[in-house]
Amino acid sequence: MEGYKTDSGYARRTAQIGVPSLAPEFRIDDVIRSTYETLGLEQLDAVRSLPSKIVVGGLPQSLVNKLRPLLKLTLLTKDDYLYQQDDRVDFIYFPETAVISEFQMLADGRTIEVAVTGAEGAVGISSVWGTSPAVNCAQVCVGGTAYKIETDVLERELTYSRPLQRWLHDQINSYIKQISQKVICNTHHAVEERFCTWLLMLQDRSKKNKFNLTQEYIAGVLGVYRPSVTCMAKSLREKNAIDYVRGQIFISDRNKLKKMSCACYTELSSNGTS
Ligand SMILES: [Zn+2]
Repeated sequence: MEGYKTDSGYARRTAQIGVPSLAPEFRIDDVIRSTYETLGLEQLDAVRSLPSKIVVGGLPQSLVNKLRPLLKLTLLTKDDYLYQQDDRVDFIYFPETAVISEFQMLADGRTIEVAVTGAEGAVGISSVWGTSPAVNCAQVCVGGTAYKIETDVLERELTYSRPLQRWLHDQINSYIKQISQKVICNTHHAVEERFCTWLLMLQDRSKKNKFNLTQEYIAGVLGVYRPSVTCMAKSLREKNAIDYVRGQIFISDRNKLKKMSCACYTELSSNGTS
């Protein structure tokens, strides 16, 4: 009963100062984060730690140098959402080592990936002009670093820079090309071929051989049910193309995956960094 009295006292005190009683750690995190943001520490730290040459969304170095003071280096954790569909897009993200997947939700609740972006591109670019909300849901597929810039700030810079406008035009073209190819892929190609193509694209963009991917996540990428992924993964492992343990997939033989991928890999890899 002592414990109950102590809890009641805590609840009374928090109620008096109008603070939710369930998550005090959360409030502290919020205070720390907002204090850092108010002081601009994230931006200052990022500027200090940026090496002289950085890769930012395929931008030429002259444009990178121009944008450098406006970029914030940020760490993206796997499975974090950058936006949900119809969210306001406050930041444009340029993945460095992170890889971002964009999804659409199907009527039956399944999801399907419509775009995957690494260091070759940027996420959120269709919302740069105007106030268009996020077209797709964007989620971190491979955790890592990315540079981000406020959407309003990038829009302002675009107004004065023809080279930046040309870059954005090229980026949007590449984005449309990828989405168009994904439509063909998702509609006409066998699931195993699509799985191989997707793994190769992930490897090109992350430069990794090992991924933290559950079968449930892969099912959400391919728009299939989990048992289909279990069968495919087993089949590819028997062919020594991949291996896996719980929640992790390893690419054992890239050439075998290439042979089993669909033609979309060749088409889409010109967008990527392979
Ligand atoms: Zn395909």
